[in-house]
Amino acid sequence: MTDPALPTTARVVVIGGGIIGCSVAYHLAAMGCRDVLLLERDRLTSGTTWHAAGLIVTFGSTSETSTEMRTYSRDLYTRLEAETGQATGFRPCGFIEVAADADRLEEYRRVAAFNRHLGIDVHELGPREVGELFPLAAVSDILAGFYVKEDGRANPVDVTMALAKGARMRGARIAEGVTVTGVQTRGGAVAAVETSHGTIQCEVVVNCAGMWARELGQRSGVNIPLQAAEHYYLITGPMAGISRDWPVLEDPASYGYYREEGGGLMIGLFEPVCAPWQVDGVPKDFSFGEIEPDWERMTPFLEKALARVPAAQAAGIKKLFCGPESFTPDLQPIVGQAPELKNYFVAAGLNSIGILTGGGIGRLLAHWILTGAPDADVTGINIDRLHRYQGNPEYRRTRTVESLGMVYQCHYPTRSMSTARNARRSPLHDRLVERGAYFKDVSGWEGADWYAPPGVAPKVERLSWGRQNWFAYWRAEHEAARSGVVLMDMSFMSKFFMQGRDAGRVLNHLSANQVDTEPGRITYTQWLNERGTIEADLTVTKLSDENFMVVASDTAHGHVQARLRRACEGAHAFATDVTGAWAQINIQGPRSRELLQPLTSTDLSNEAFPFRCAREIDLGLARVLCIRITYLGELGYELYVPAEQAIHVYERLVQAGEAVKLKHAGLKALASLRMEKGYRDYGHDIDNTDSVLEAGLGFAVDLNKPGGFIGRDAVLAKKAAGALTRRLVQVLVADPEPLLFHAEVVYRNGQPLGYVRAASYGFTLGGAVGLAMVDAGEAIDPAWCEAGRWEIDIAGTRFPARASLKPMYDPQMKRIRA
Ligand SMILES: Cc1cc2nc3c(=O)[nH]c(=O)nc-3n(C[C@H](O)[C@H](O)[C@H](O)COP(=O)(O)OP(=O)(O)OC[C@H]3O[C@@H](n4cnc5c(N)ncnc54)[C@H](O)[C@@H]3O)c2cc1C
Repeated sequence: MTDPALPTTARVVVIGGGIIGCSVAYHLAAMGCRDVLLLERDRLTSGTTWHAAGLIVTFGSTSETSTEMRTYSRDLYTRLEAETGQATGFRPCGFIEVAADADRLEEYRRVAAFNRHLGIDVHELGPREVGELFPLAAVSDILAGFYVKEDGRANPVDVTMALAKGARMRGARIAEGVTVTGVQTRGGAVAAVETSHGTIQCEVVVNCAGMWARELGQRSGVNIPLQAAEHYYLITGPMAGISRDWPVLEDPASYGYYREEGGGLMIGLFEPVCAPWQVDGVPKDFSFGEIEPDWERMTPFLEKALARVPAAQAAGIKKLFCGPESFTPDLQPIVGQAPELKNYFVAAGLNSIGILTGGGIGRLLAHWILTGAPDADVTGINIDRLHRYQGNPEYRRTRTVESLGMVYQCHYPTRSMSTARNARRSPLHDRLVERGAYFKDVSGWEGADWYAPPGVAPKVERLSWGRQNWFAYWRAEHEAARSGVVLMDMSFMSKFFMQGRDAGRVLNHLSANQVDTEPGRITYTQWLNERGTIEADLTVTKLSDENFMVVASDTAHGHVQARLRRACEGAHAFATDVTGAWAQINIQGPRSRELLQPLTSTDLSNEAFPFRCAREIDLGLARVLCIRITYLGELGYELYVPAEQAIHVYERLVQAGEAVKLKHAGLKALASLRMEKGYRDYGHDIDNTDSVLEAGLGFAVDLNKPGGFIGRDAVLAKKAAGALTRRLVQVLVADPEPLLFHAEVVYRNGQPLGYVRAASYGFTLGGAVGLAMVDAGEAIDPAWCEAGRWEIDIAGTRFPARASLKPMYDPQMKRIRA
């Protein structure tokens, strides 16, 4: 495989010859990039890929991107042999996911409906049918199995070799035995890679170095906070009657998956509490390596897994294999262009599904590199969602214990990671603890999710898909915001000052709306790319001619920062991250003026301080930037307070709040309130694949502003193309009982047209409410919404619903302007 002579230049250098690097090289070459060089430290597959179990599974995800990556990979592995002459070992022997408890049954029914919508042929089986397909399994306690006949297993080494061969056939070069030691930069962009065999000039580098990717990235200042962990499977001795044609069986409640191997069984494990491996650094010479198994730690999990297939106990254990695999803080892969360094791309941290998604990841990244944009929603996997502190050894050591185990947990929609917590706290944190806040992980911040009433401990009694113990507390917070006044600590919001003579011009070029207004005004806007799809959803407040504040959600921090920084190049404009320096206290609800007015000498009347007004005000002994704006559809004010004055302001608010029955409200209430109003949340209900018009945000686009903006031509072209046939609609379930979370399929007149991107419970509207992107194939307008018979599939049952393009709550915005 090795090219004898290394070139001195290449357009793209791919680092790492595991499945991911080979897939990236294959797809770059397939897309016509003729100058691709893949460098592998040792031999292809020598890192993690060689020992993977090779499960090829399309079932199981409620992410459209992940599901698309899975189905694409399976299809690719099916056809690669015909294309390259190299077999992949893919056998469509089928796959069954087993539900052995009611909550998992609910989860898999929801997943199955979503997966079917995306073209996966999932069948729900009874326990007897599971037993017929996998006769050695104990099925008496099984409630159901979810069967995909076309899924199965492949040989990871063969798949990688086929990708490598395909890449070479299309002109890519692959060199083994060459270690990349560093990356040279010029003007903030990649210029060359340094290797054990000399320097190679290049335009783009792609770090696919698996569990070594973090340390390699670190040398270039690129944050890739993945961590290797022990990952196990055992091989039994031969077992009578077993067949290679049996499907792969997976039973997360028993921590195991099961497939035939060498006449016996391979039993793979995802134990609930796992062990990180080599936190201080992965050995450079670890090749085709194994880790000494920790029998003592694994025995209880092995026993549980073996109980699902009792005959396996008698067959004996031939081998307990342990190998390292990379895990990430949120169990999502790390993909995309590093925010720190232009043209430095990363695809690593595959969380044990690198084989079954590898084809898709390669395609997505190749597309991104060659066209400037990924061909799927990347908001959940983009490298720029991660924070630098997550690379700390203590963080990785702590969080990784939980990550691997999460794979087989029931994926309750309200579950929050519980390790590596309390790393980022708002200045108000301790006060909120005293108020009974229940906190969840919000991009590493402790975010108050809901508040327990006095005398009640803020605890989740039992996670479920239904109403939990805090449902009534949530309702009370929601209702207080609609009828009274609430305080929300939103200090985790991403905040940037943008200053300089060109700040307004630069921001206006980024923003689809006119943001360079008169000073003292906030503007809601999107940042688009050249295709007119959305890169960011945020507010820009003009404080003065040369000083602006940009505020985005917590998850958008890195993305917005990178875009701001790049936009400033060559201009007299300087972006400063002030996220931690300013607290954000939100006062919202019809009585919010009544609460605030006595605390300040500024006139807050509607005439003097109208909607969208932004002004520095006195509040007690503090100076506060007060912005009249709302994300939940009521009269409301966002107070930006220097961190050191946050407690003072909070105390004044709480003190004055007694007279107006001020209630603390958490993120659950924010979600239900904003969803009733149809307000968007980037990365949840809108993403980088949505045109701003389809997202229903055309009202925030100023096509006529002087100087234009990035994406204007695409928006104009979309408008000229005629009525929209794909749009985001608000949906409301008529029955007040069922709950929506995400990924529920939406039907109009019996036809599945899309799915719920994000949802909550509308206490004011009287039922579960969500935002769904629907693809109708015909013009979508209010009359079309009205005329349809709408239903939503919730865990296999279709519930009647309503759909609307206009927010169902206060469409005239009367309450906001009150
Ligand atoms: C026990 C086990 C079972 C698994 N089962 C499955 C499964 O059934 N299905 C599934 O989808 N996934 C499975 N996985 C996960 C899967 O194996 C990984 O996600 C996948 O192999 C990761 O591929 P990679 O290319 O990112 O990493 P790797 O295969 O580790 O490739 C990285 C490569 O980079 C090279 N490299 C590193 N540093 C440098 C450098 N400086 N210069 C040049 N080269 C460098 C390394 O030598 C290595 O070859 C399993 C993992 C384990 C441990």
